[in-house]
Amino acid sequence: MSRVCDEVLAQLPSYVDRSLDPFRRKLVALHLRRCAACQAEFSRQRSLHAGLTALQSTEDAPPDGLLESLLQNADSPRGATPLRGAVSGAKPAYSAALLLAGAAAGAGAGYASWISAKNLRKLIRR
Ligand SMILES: [Zn+2]
Repeated sequence: MSRVCDEVLAQLPSYVDRSLDPFRRKLVALHLRRCAACQAEFSRQRSLHAGLTALQSTEDAPPDGLLESLLQNADSPRGATPLRGAVSGAKPAYSAALLLAGAAAGAGAGYASWISAKNLRKLIRR
């Protein structure tokens, strides 16, 4: 990892949610084209962002049983383990979402990940 990578990784959350200014946006885009490591992190954050965005346009509540099983999983020690490679400088929402996504991955269900993001959104609004 170079210093450029550190810079790019710190900008990624803003790049993903399109709040980055055009000049930096272009620099990040150029770097992503030739750096596999940053590209991989970008892909992960982009899919996470897409999931959160989808949740914001979804009003229906998930089935109660699924939410409870996810919360039980999140309370387990395994659920408290941070994801490796969590980006420094990432927005708090993304860091927390990555943690919850890690807990959901422990449950082995993509749908659980969806639910955890929804739950996260409720937590943020408090
Ligand atoms: Zn890089």
